[in-house]
Amino acid sequence: MNDDGRCPGCGLAMPASTKLYDGYFHCSPECWSVFGEVLEAEFGNVLLFRKVHQLTVDTYAVQHAGGPHPDKSVGVHVVGLCLAHVHGIASPDIAPRLQVLASRTKEWPHFEAPVERVATTIFDVAAASTLDEHVERVRTWSREVWSNWALHHGAVRALAARALGGR
Ligand SMILES: [Zn+2]
Repeated sequence: MNDDGRCPGCGLAMPASTKLYDGYFHCSPECWSVFGEVLEAEFGNVLLFRKVHQLTVDTYAVQHAGGPHPDKSVGVHVVGLCLAHVHGIASPDIAPRLQVLASRTKEWPHFEAPVERVATTIFDVAAASTLDEHVERVRTWSREVWSNWALHHGAVRALAARALGGR
């Protein structure tokens, strides 16, 4: 975690805690714990799970590119955003495409995370008070993160073609 207590990925400022995070996402332990709460809500509700779960995971991962986050993980998740926002593929249909992509890709490009950050974070999703609001906030946040990666859209679309191509 940075000295100022902000998440190095999304910039979320949270009170320091004794939480630990030893994964490879470029995030603070506090941000990761909010993500965990959101995932719990999605696993606990069929509607939320179907509508936005994949979008939540892909958006969170892409917003936390950088640092130790491996190119393969960033690549897979940013293609997930492309499939959702460019190709209009529904959340539950994205994971199988990403598996195809992973099986067809040996070398992953490195995507440098944008310097500019979007204002929305996982905290906004966690703070939603209704299911509809949760869905709406994930979609808005996801669109913002995808737009913020405009510099890489061409390269990501080329990778996405691999996920969509026939056998
Ligand atoms: Zn974060």
